[in-house]
Amino acid sequence: MILMSKIIIEKPKIENCESEVFGKAIRLVAEITMKNPNTNKIEKNECYFEFEKEYEKFICSERSDAFVMGLLTTAMENNMDIEFEMPISEKLYYQLTTYYIPMVSKYNADYPMHNIKLIGPLDNTPIVNEKAVATGCSGGVDSFYTIAKHLSKDVPNTNKLTHIVYSSSGTSDINDKRIKDEYKRNKPIILSIAKDCNLKAIFCFNNLYKFYKTPFRGFTMFYTTTFCSVAFALQKLISIYYASSGDPIKNFSLDLTKTHGHDSQVFDVYTLSCINNENLNFYSAGQEYSRIEKEQYISDFIPAQKNLRVCASMPYLKNPETKYKNCSMCPKCLRTMTQFYVINKLDCFKDVFNIEEFYKHKTKYIAKMIVSNKKSYVDDMKKFAKINKVKISFGSYLLAYLYKPFKLLKNILKKSLFVRKIYYKLNLDYKIYGYRDPKYESYKEKIK
Ligand SMILES: [Zn+2]
Repeated sequence: MILMSKIIIEKPKIENCESEVFGKAIRLVAEITMKNPNTNKIEKNECYFEFEKEYEKFICSERSDAFVMGLLTTAMENNMDIEFEMPISEKLYYQLTTYYIPMVSKYNADYPMHNIKLIGPLDNTPIVNEKAVATGCSGGVDSFYTIAKHLSKDVPNTNKLTHIVYSSSGTSDINDKRIKDEYKRNKPIILSIAKDCNLKAIFCFNNLYKFYKTPFRGFTMFYTTTFCSVAFALQKLISIYYASSGDPIKNFSLDLTKTHGHDSQVFDVYTLSCINNENLNFYSAGQEYSRIEKEQYISDFIPAQKNLRVCASMPYLKNPETKYKNCSMCPKCLRTMTQFYVINKLDCFKDVFNIEEFYKHKTKYIAKMIVSNKKSYVDDMKKFAKINKVKISFGSYLLAYLYKPFKLLKNILKKSLFVRKIYYKLNLDYKIYGYRDPKYESYKEKIK
C-alpha cells in the first residue's frame, strides 16, 4: 500500500528520446509515485533529466542521487519521506539526514519545511568520473563572476572551469510550452557565452517543476538542492561544481525569517557542504564578495562586457533584434548600471545597456535606482561613489525622496486585481516601461 506521505523513486533508467528542446536526446528517467501537492491525488509520473546525446556516457543511473536532490525541497515542504529503489551515496545520505534536513527544517518550521526521512539502500563506492569542473550559467553578474574567477590565474588548475551548465531547473513557470520555448530561445545565448569563454556548454532540460507545489514558494526559496541535482545526474563527468551565490557571507542565517526577503542562498555555504559526496564537491562561489565587488571584478572581462544580462524583462528574448540585452529601465538594470557608473566602468558595458539614455537622464535614473532597490545595494552604491570620487547629485536624492510615496502607493495598488486589470487593459506597462510587464503571464488568467 502506498503511504500518502511518501515520494517513491523507482530505479532510474537511461533512455533515448525525441526531445522537444534538443531533437534526438538522452534522458535519465525514473518513475515517481507521490501525492500531487496541488491536487492531493496520488499520481505516478516520469521525472527526467534530458541531455544532448554526447553526454550519454556521463549519465549516472547507478544512483538515485539526482532524483532525491531534485525532489528534496518538495518533500520537505510537503512533509513527505523519500523512498528510493537504487542506492544513494552514503556520504550524501549521512550529511542530508544528520545536518541539512534536521537543521533547515528546525529553523524554517513555519515556512513550512519538515524533518523528513530518506529510506533506501546506500553505496559508498566512488564513481569514476572525468574530473570536469562546472558552474551554472544564467549570464548574470553572479555567473560571470564565478566564470571569470575560475578561469583566472587566482585558482589552481584542478579548480579551473571546463564547462558551464544551463538547465531548466530555475523556471518559475508552469506552462510546458512557454518553459520549452524560453529554454530554446536562451540556448544560443548560452552557447555564445561558452564560446567567448572557451568553455563547453552542457544543456539539461528537466521536468522537476511538475513535482512542486505552485506557486513555487518552496521551490523559489530553497532551490539550491534542486539546481545541483543536474550535477548528480552527470556525476560520471563532473567532480567540482560551483553554485554562484547572490548573497555575501555576511547575510548568513539558517532562518529565512531573519534575512529580510533573501532566499536560501544566504546559507548556501552550509547547504553545499552538506551535499558533497564521494564523487562531487560543491562550492558556494562568490560569497566572499558583495554584488558591487563582483561587478568590479568582471568589469574588464570581455565575455561579460559582450553578454551580461541582468534584466528582469529580458527584452531580447521577445525581440532578438533589440539592440541591448537589457531593458536599462527595470530595478535590476538600474542597479547594475548605477553600480558600474560609480566604479567608473559603465562605458565598458555600452553593448548591453543603453548608456546614452542613462547619461542623458542620470539624475532621474539614479533616483529610481535608490527608490527601487534594497538598502544594501544603495549603501554599496554610495560607498563606492565616495571611494571613486563619483558625485551623486543632490537632485537624485531629492527625486528619490519625492518618488517614495509613489512607490508606496504602487505597492498598495499592485496588490489589487482590479487595478491590475485596468493597468494591463490600458497597456500602462508599455507606456511607462516600453515593454510588457513580466508578471503579466501570472495574472493573465485571473484578470480575464
Ligand atoms: Zn531591465
